Amino acid sequence: MGKKYIIAVDGPSGSGKSTVSQRLAEKLGYLYLDTGAMYRAAGLQALRQNLDLDCLESVKTVAPGLRIELKKVSGRLQVLLNGEDVSEEIRKPEMGMAASKISRHLPIREKMWELQRELGKEGGVVAEGRDVGTVVFPDADFKFFVTAGAEERARRRHRELRDKGFAVNYEEVLKEVKERDEQDSGRELAPLKPALDAVMVDTTDSSAEQIVEKLLRIVREKSRE
Ligand code: C5P
Repeated sequence: MGKKYIIAVDGPSGSGKSTVSQRLAEKLGYLYLDTGAMYRAAGLQALRQNLDLDCLESVKTVAPGLRIELKKVSGRLQVLLNGEDVSEEIRKPEMGMAASKISRHLPIREKMWELQRELGKEGGVVAEGRDVGTVVFPDADFKFFVTAGAEERARRRHRELRDKGFAVNYEEVLKEVKERDEQDSGRELAPLKPALDAVMVDTTDSSAEQIVEKLLRIVREKSRE
């Protein structure tokens, strides 16, 4: 495949978009751009400074100094916040909500858009998030919107968190999934929604492998045109 595409994968939490995006990037030899991880790192920075995540005046002070890097180390994505490896810390259950809160503020989003566009400017990237196809890369070569029912997404998140050793119960996870959906879809700024030209991909009854194969077929078909 000659051309280095920009592939945008958006969708709600637990839809399977991370696994799918990561594997797709691996198969294509592309950079995996996890934009959610960047918002999580921004949230972490604000929490460390004891800032009120709901208050614009308060959180906007962190934006200018935020240095977030994504690196691939031994096949795994490493997230660096001002040079410190925070890959584990940003996966704590409460960090999803912190990211969701801080991501509502324009100065934070503008800073993230700038970093994300810089990382994607050469192409050869699978960028995953909520607004990648609508805002960050509106001219992406491919746009996919990955979804699954809320209960199935909560089951996956619950399993994932339990596997990581967090003591969470399913009802709590389901409640958080629904809250985060509402917060992400209902916000004014870059709300979670499919781009008009996105291909909708429902993962409720399919394995990640099946979905990856489906997306790869679509990408390869176009590259033969
Ligand atoms: O994908 P992940 O669960 O890591 O994202 C955490 C939160 O970051 C989301 O709930 C969402 O509020 C925010 N986010 C965003 N825009 C993106 C990616 C993530 O607002 N492109």
